[in-house]
Amino acid sequence: MDGLYGLELTRNSKVGWAFSVSRKESCIGATEACRTLCYGNGVRYKTKGARRKRERNFRTVERLLALGGPELLADNLVHLIDMARPTDWLVAKLSGVKTKVPWSLRLFDIGDVHKPEVAYAWWLAAIKRPECVLWFYSRSFVEPEILKKLALLAELPNVRGFLSLDRENYKEGLKAFERYPEVFYVAVMQEKPSPPVKKMLLEIERVVPEKRLVVFPVHKGAFHVEPLKTRGVVCPQVLGQYELVNEPDREKPCQSCRVCLPRPPSEP
Ligand code: SF4
Repeated sequence: MDGLYGLELTRNSKVGWAFSVSRKESCIGATEACRTLCYGNGVRYKTKGARRKRERNFRTVERLLALGGPELLADNLVHLIDMARPTDWLVAKLSGVKTKVPWSLRLFDIGDVHKPEVAYAWWLAAIKRPECVLWFYSRSFVEPEILKKLALLAELPNVRGFLSLDRENYKEGLKAFERYPEVFYVAVMQEKPSPPVKKMLLEIERVVPEKRLVVFPVHKGAFHVEPLKTRGVVCPQVLGQYELVNEPDREKPCQSCRVCLPRPPSEP
C-alpha cells in the first residue's frame, strides 16, 4: 500500500522530470476551458497510481508546511531537484563536459500553486540549486499574494514562469502580466479558431511582446486544432516537429526545443 506521505517526481516523454500535485485541491485558478481540455484528463494521467502519487505529493506539501513552514518544505524540494539530476552529472562535472541531457525540472506538470508559501518554498529551493533549470505555467495569478511569490520565483535566472491564459481568464492574466512585464512569459491555450478566440489572441499580442509569448493549440495525441497566425511561438511539439522520447539519457522535446526553459547557467 502507498505510504501516507512522501514527495515523488514523475518523468514523461515530453518534458522529462516533472513534479505534480492533485488538481482538485491545487488548481485554484482553473477555468471551465482548462478543466475540460486539461491533458490530465488523458488516460496516462488517470491511472490509480498516478492519481495517488499526486494526492500524496499534495498531502505531503501541506504537512511539511504545517510542521516547518516553507523552509522545511524547501529542504525537501531540494532533495526532489537532486533526484532530477542527469545520471552522468557527476562524471560530466568532474570532466568539465556537458551532461547528455540538461538538468531540468518542470513544476506542476499537473496541478498548480495553491498558496503563496508553496511558491516561496520553490524559490528557496531553486536558489540552492542554480544549476538546475525549472519552469512552470500557472493560472494561480488570480490570488495577489500568490502572484507576488510567483514573480519572485520567476525572477530567478534558473527559473522561467508562464502565466497560463485562455479565453476565460486572459483579461485578468494580462493585468497580472502588466504588473511584472519583465518577469513573466505568457502561455496561451488556443482553442479551435472562432471570433472570440481570435479576439483573445489579438488582445494578448497587443500587450505581450512576441519573445514572451508561446501558443499551444489544443491537442490530443497527434491531432491539434488549426493554429492561429501569431507573432509568438507555436509550440513545435504540438505541431509534431518533435517526437516523444522515452529513453532516459536522450533529450526530451522540451529539453531540445528550450523555448519555455530558462537558459542554462553554464551558457552565456
Ligand atoms: S514550446 Fe518547446 S519547450 Fe515549450 S512546451 Fe513546446 S516543446 Fe516544450
